[in-house]
Amino acid sequence: MSGALLEVRDLYKAFDGVRAVDGITFDLHPGEFLALIGPNGAGKSTTFNMVNGQLRASGGSVRFAGQELTRMQPRAIWRLGVGRTFQIAATFASFTVIENVQMAVMSHHRQLFSLWRPAASRYRGEALALLERVGMDTQADRPCSELAYGDVKRVELAMALANDPKLLLMDEPTAGMAPRERNELMALTKRLVVERGMAVLFTEHSMDVVFAHADRIIVLARGKLIAEGDADAIRNHAKVKEVYFGNGLTFEHPPEAAVADARIPA
Ligand code: ADP
Ligand code: MG
Repeated sequence: MSGALLEVRDLYKAFDGVRAVDGITFDLHPGEFLALIGPNGAGKSTTFNMVNGQLRASGGSVRFAGQELTRMQPRAIWRLGVGRTFQIAATFASFTVIENVQMAVMSHHRQLFSLWRPAASRYRGEALALLERVGMDTQADRPCSELAYGDVKRVELAMALANDPKLLLMDEPTAGMAPRERNELMALTKRLVVERGMAVLFTEHSMDVVFAHADRIIVLARGKLIAEGDADAIRNHAKVKEVYFGNGLTFEHPPEAAVADARIPA
């Protein structure tokens, strides 16, 4: 055992013969804030979805706390403590901030969500404590539909924490946010990583944000892991520069990718 929380070995996924993820190997340790970067189509989302069970790997292994995940259902993986952030579904935007978090808390306690008052109110204290962690307790009773975009992202983070994850996966958590909001959300997430001893694997398009907040960075290009290291090592890595600048991209202005819709597993 390497002491790693997540051990990814020779992970491979082909779609109709196209190698989306082509044999990647990396570790993630408790308390680590690890960024997965690379140009569009590099295989970042495919990697995430194999770790959380949404996609079945074509080969290789993913071990979490010593358990093999590649044959497990998403719900079982989520129960083990692999969390992810979910976009608040449109149907829940009309509910208040705290009701959305109560739903996540009830799901963690394996209760069906209902706004039947006695059931929901049992979890109000727990939900409020989570909202306090992300600095949203004073807005608990506002409808989510009224919130600023960055505040919605904080609520989504509180919802992810309701499951008490040991590993949190965040695929483009700051997509659509202004630079200042991006930095605030990443700084908040980093604090939570340290406080809870949780590990985070995230993708992010703004290289400024990645270089400022990540403990370590791994770089994918065409499904292969081409570099691994801290901000300085990656910034000056010849292959990484070639991949980014060779595509006419710069570290400052990479393209935005589409935000995938995601829901809490039923
Ligand atoms: P990234 O998240 O780094 O932008 P993806 O993991 O989404 O990249 O995609 C990696 C490659 O796999 C791309 O070439 C993409 O077109 C392909 N791909 C992703 N998902 C599918 C799918 N469901 N079916 C076919 N090809 C896919
Ligand atoms: Mg993606």
